[in-house]
Amino acid sequence: MSQMSNYNIHRSEKLFELSKKHIPGGVNSPVRAFNSVGGTPVFIERAKGAFLYDVDGNKYIDLINSWGPMILGHAHPEVIAAITEQAQHSFTYGTPTESELRIAELICKMVPELEMVRMVNSGTEACMSAVRLARGFTGRNKIIKFAGCYHGHYDSFLVEAGSGALTLGNPNSPGVTKATAADTLIAEYNDLESVQKLFEKYDDIAALIIEPVAGNMGCILPEDGFLEGLKKLCQKHGSLFILDEVMTGFRLAKGGAQEKFNINADIICFGKIIGGGLPVGAFGGRNEIFNHLSPLGPVYQAGTLSGNPIAMASGFITLSLLMENPEIYNKIEQTTQILHQNIHTILEERKIPHHINSIGSMISVFFTNEKVINYKTAKTTDVLTFKRLFHYGLENGVYFPPSAFETWFISKEIGTPEIEQILDVFRKF
Ligand SMILES: *Cc1c(COP(=O)(O)O)cnc(C)c1O
Repeated sequence: MSQMSNYNIHRSEKLFELSKKHIPGGVNSPVRAFNSVGGTPVFIERAKGAFLYDVDGNKYIDLINSWGPMILGHAHPEVIAAITEQAQHSFTYGTPTESELRIAELICKMVPELEMVRMVNSGTEACMSAVRLARGFTGRNKIIKFAGCYHGHYDSFLVEAGSGALTLGNPNSPGVTKATAADTLIAEYNDLESVQKLFEKYDDIAALIIEPVAGNMGCILPEDGFLEGLKKLCQKHGSLFILDEVMTGFRLAKGGAQEKFNINADIICFGKIIGGGLPVGAFGGRNEIFNHLSPLGPVYQAGTLSGNPIAMASGFITLSLLMENPEIYNKIEQTTQILHQNIHTILEERKIPHHINSIGSMISVFFTNEKVINYKTAKTTDVLTFKRLFHYGLENGVYFPPSAFETWFISKEIGTPEIEQILDVFRKF
């Protein structure tokens, strides 16, 4: 079953050394460098279904799924066909296309109360543009974000940020001006009072942005009434309520967290699954707000490759498959629950302190005695134990995200044998 005895990554080691010469840190996105878990990042050559294959011939069950997009598993035949077909007709025109219309229609059908959607090229762009639109719409400057939440690498968000910024110990990035940082107000996740205090103190708040399920400090669920409470506070103070569904969109349900929790935001941000593995983001909401976006209104936003036909083809088929096959959501949710319950039992038997959070197809195992409900409690996780798990996983064919503060994603391709192999890693690490 496992590859251990002759496990080696000699070719990855060589490629990483060479990469470091011309690519900062050898990677194009920081967490990939393995800095927080140590060791050499594994170079992947190809992937199919539930599995990644590296350049040394090792095979891994994929629990990263490219950090979210690959919910259908890798190299899905219908997605390949859609991309290939579009490629025959060239890759980009810089004009309107019917494929943009079709995906916009589909997204508005899948996501509750969505009237208009603008495509961009990444989750960062989606969140950045959402905040600009909120500022333009309200004529106010400040935003509220939550400690440990990640909304991409736009300056305004690199204040107490999660994801790689948290993993690498720089939640506040140099290069962000004091003025920009001063316009970002920080609240505590699952703490309505911390938000209320900010609204009482400042009257210049354009918007509040939140991950409806936090996924970038590990997976953290909103407590009952938290999201509703935030929405009420925003309404009361005339601020916009922005849901960053870059991770949760099309993952928790076809309509994302809005459907799952029956809550509506003023602006919703998408990324990851929406492109089916190609670089896509989007932000959407009501006409009343989106009438302010260029070319309808004065808030400027643009993109040479936005709505790119190949990306639209990949996104459209991925979303269509999710829409037409709702049983996919049941399956990945079930897989996640089986993992949750069994990992809990295994760690309990071995008296390893742990707290597991999961919802839909998102799961995190924190090695701590605390109940993990926010940034502070997330940080109590024992990073050394995670490192041991991570490396034991690699050596035994399971690829966990290389950080104690990232959510693991379950794709539809993970079945019973894969679950067993993952559990075996927990039994033995
Ligand atoms: C990944 C992520 C982003 C950033 O998306 P990119 O495509 O990496 O720019 C923003 N918000 C959340 C919640 C994310 O998980």
